[in-house]
Amino acid sequence: MRKIHFKISFLLLALSLVFAGLVLAGQTAPQNQPPAAQPNANAAAPNNANTAAPNTAMNQIIDKIIGRETALGKKMQGMHPIVETYLQNLDKDDQLTFRPKSDAYFLGKFDYKAEGRQHSMLNGEGIKDSIFGKISQLYSIKYIPSGFLQMLVVSGPLDRKDYDFEFVRREFLGEVRTLAFDVKPKKGGSGRFIGRIWAEDQDYNIVRFNGTYGPSTTTKVYFHFDSWREYMGNGEWLPAYVYTEESDVGYLLGTRKLRFKGQTRLWGYNVGTSSAQNELTALIVDSDQVKDNIDEADGISPVRALRSWERDAENNIIQRLEKAGLVAPDGEVNKVLETVSTNLEVTNNLSIDPPIRARVLLTSPLESFTIGHTIVLSRGLVDVLPDEASLAMIIAHELAHITLGHRIDTKYSFNDRMLFEDPEAFRRIQLKRDPNEEMAADKKAAELLRNSPYKDKLGNAGLFLKAVDQRAGQLDRLLVSHVGNAMVKGAEVKRMAELKQVAPPLDMTKLDQIAALPLGGRIRVDPWTAKIELLKAKPVALLSPREKMPFEVTPVNLYLTRQLVGQQQQPATTATTAPAQKQQP
Ligand SMILES: [Zn+2]
Repeated sequence: MRKIHFKISFLLLALSLVFAGLVLAGQTAPQNQPPAAQPNANAAAPNNANTAAPNTAMNQIIDKIIGRETALGKKMQGMHPIVETYLQNLDKDDQLTFRPKSDAYFLGKFDYKAEGRQHSMLNGEGIKDSIFGKISQLYSIKYIPSGFLQMLVVSGPLDRKDYDFEFVRREFLGEVRTLAFDVKPKKGGSGRFIGRIWAEDQDYNIVRFNGTYGPSTTTKVYFHFDSWREYMGNGEWLPAYVYTEESDVGYLLGTRKLRFKGQTRLWGYNVGTSSAQNELTALIVDSDQVKDNIDEADGISPVRALRSWERDAENNIIQRLEKAGLVAPDGEVNKVLETVSTNLEVTNNLSIDPPIRARVLLTSPLESFTIGHTIVLSRGLVDVLPDEASLAMIIAHELAHITLGHRIDTKYSFNDRMLFEDPEAFRRIQLKRDPNEEMAADKKAAELLRNSPYKDKLGNAGLFLKAVDQRAGQLDRLLVSHVGNAMVKGAEVKRMAELKQVAPPLDMTKLDQIAALPLGGRIRVDPWTAKIELLKAKPVALLSPREKMPFEVTPVNLYLTRQLVGQQQQPATTATTAPAQKQQP
């Protein structure tokens, strides 16, 4: 129970000077590998559409691709993943090439049948800026219903009558061998896809498509996008990420230019009621083991009763958020966070009952909060924190709330308060604390850190806060919290602000000073189960300051594979609840 614990297992999180800059979600392989060495009979396809005889083998492949895409379009109508879109509007900067000027955020649950195709999960849409509002409209399908789905499934619809398909080459995307085709409409018509598709060569599902729809008009602007799918669930390829980027969209009759980049993530395809149903199945099987483990003597203690009542509220909230696909199921990342908390507890001689747990909120905006004795950090926050000391700073603040006995609102112990539709989650669950509690927690946290193994590394933590300060005026959607208190008030970090004084000066141009990481570089979310894992991307040496990209969204470059995350659990659960959806061979 002493200092041996300090260095435990943070090595995965502790990337100190280097990070996977241009790589999102664990994708370490180069995107463009040379075509496969072995030529295939089909690959002898015409490289241009004017070749005299139609290549029937190639046409059969194209027909299969079209068939799979049409089937996916139908399948998506029954799917309800969470959809999060985060956009950064860019300004030109001599040293950094582009830097964020403002941002926009949208979170919803995909619902094909609902008007607008997506239920917003946010309190207010919060997008006031008119130009940026236009971009958001494209995403927030409320206004242009077809716009969003078009970036998930090739629309048009795709067929050989209206489109020319030109075989480009074989190409590996990660482990998956694909056939790449250039696709363009035969003749004009609005809202037609133009770009490239990559289809895997087993069942001919499109796994990636990249391009735009067109042509744009003065009233309708189509953006460029790169849409990726992942292999998941019952062996299907479903939309997982979309990256959008524009460097010079003219608007106001071409008098002004719009620059932005943005990322859409989809996750939680198989999260929700089904997991509870599975638990029930398990419960019936071994019902002998299901019993209350509080003995009678404990049960009647008033203190126990209070703790138990508060733990009920805590469990209710976590379970509800997990069921909504907003909190990741328990797993390895939580253990890493709990280890940091343990380091702080042990060195401060704290003994906390019930023990501290940690969870990850799956959304991008940077926030942390406590639910009873559970510390919650958002995925976006874990992504951008540069090192263990900065993580310890965040956790120390939350741990301080717990040690100071700051209470959870036990109104959440009443189960009726958890009976709401998923998109209501952030409107129903609000855990903001008053400013006095915040100040007290900061003070206590400073004390916890002073006694901890992190005490000599707090300069980095302060540097992180300075980096937040620097972007606070521009990235306000990233710094708005869904559930807890915001770190920033009035374009300045208020939380743990005194650590800024012990930090070195922030220098954006210094290559070896990494104050904050880009979004998406640390945690991989499995889009089917919403389980998370730490990325194992190899560190990349930075070439220029623009590769530091603090708090920025990056292009998507998935390392595609047919291996399912958590494969061992998957077949069992699908087999018990949905025998019709058998695993594909
Ligand atoms: Zn707080």
